[in-house]
Amino acid sequence: MNPFDYVRVESATAAITSGSRAGAKFIAGGTNLVDLMKCDVERPLHVVDINALPLAAIERVSGGIRIDALAKMSDVASHPLVTRDFPAISQALLASASPQLRNAASIGGNLMQRTRCPYFRELTFAPCNKREPGSGCSAIDGENRTHAILGTSDACIATHPSDLAVAVAALDGVLTIRSANGERKVAATDFHLIPGRTPHLEHDLRHGELITSLFLPDAAHAQHSAYLKIRDRAAYEFALTAAAAGLDISGGIIRSARVALGGVGTKPWRARAAEGVLSGQRPSAELFRAAADAELQAAKPHEQNKFKVELVKRTLVRALTDLAGGVA
Ligand SMILES: Cc1cc2nc3c(=O)[nH]c(=O)nc-3n(C[C@H](O)[C@H](O)[C@H](O)COP(=O)(O)OP(=O)(O)OC[C@H]3O[C@@H](n4cnc5c(N)ncnc54)[C@H](O)[C@@H]3O)c2cc1C
Ligand code: SF4
Repeated sequence: MNPFDYVRVESATAAITSGSRAGAKFIAGGTNLVDLMKCDVERPLHVVDINALPLAAIERVSGGIRIDALAKMSDVASHPLVTRDFPAISQALLASASPQLRNAASIGGNLMQRTRCPYFRELTFAPCNKREPGSGCSAIDGENRTHAILGTSDACIATHPSDLAVAVAALDGVLTIRSANGERKVAATDFHLIPGRTPHLEHDLRHGELITSLFLPDAAHAQHSAYLKIRDRAAYEFALTAAAAGLDISGGIIRSARVALGGVGTKPWRARAAEGVLSGQRPSAELFRAAADAELQAAKPHEQNKFKVELVKRTLVRALTDLAGGVA
């Protein structure tokens, strides 16, 4: 681990001032940052502890709820406003990591966590464009069973690991980001970036900017939402495939649909093609399969992850079927 200094700040202004120094990094729960510092992937010169900032509230606001960036995953997962009005968010959090990690980790840190591609975390034996731009991608012709099939490029095929980010993308979350220049809002679907030729650029957050909160808008499809995660073992494992879905069904017709996929995208994958197939239709097994087929038309599997194409279709069909009360 490289030498670094540490400062604990007590206001957003102090955080932004300290965090804007070259080589500075914010630390919240530390469950991702410290991990990556230990394997030398992250080498901050200044670690800026933001845990004393008053940013842990979960509150009803006009048109939805606001979840502050330092709210703990476990507190958000069990909060009555979240379980009642945004069940997919609670379910995605409860399917993440372990109880100990969820007690320590924050919402802002969760959305900022970095890929679990093993080559990214292993400095000694393999090139990785995300860790060292221009060095190559070891996964494309290597171990790629857990990698992405949507949003990939010739430079990187790593999946985005967050479960929460998938549910947030489905339910139209909006981030508030603060810097020395003031505040700005970014739709969660625009926050994470596909790799293209620059896989080291992962999100729309400039150096020194602080995520202060996440807004989730009220909607009938959000109240009737769910998150389904498929993984190699039942707990404490990242997604092979996942689906976050919300359906507003009235009079036997899907009035609005929201869908995002996890474990298959280089970013949390909002499934707009699937939504287009579902909207205005009567729920049926055929419709759900058609929605999944439409979204996966763009899939580009690699040698070891071809199984994900069918697996994620079935994941989505099952999530939609359960939400619709078992029509399939
Ligand atoms: C064994 C293990 C299993 C896991 N399993 C899962 C899983 O199944 N699903 C899942 O989704 N996650 C999983 N995780 C990841 C875990 O959820 C993340 O490590 C955690 O959410 C990160 O939050 P944190 O507060 O600890 O972030 P930190 O480690 O403190 O920070 C992570 C990054 O976010 C930045 N950051 C933090 N807060 C802010 C802010 N407010 N503004 C700007 N930047 C900020 C930091 O600078 C850093 O770059 C797992 C982790 C481990 C170790
Ligand atoms: S998939 Fe991305 S993170 Fe993994 S080795 Fe290739 S460039 Fe690196």
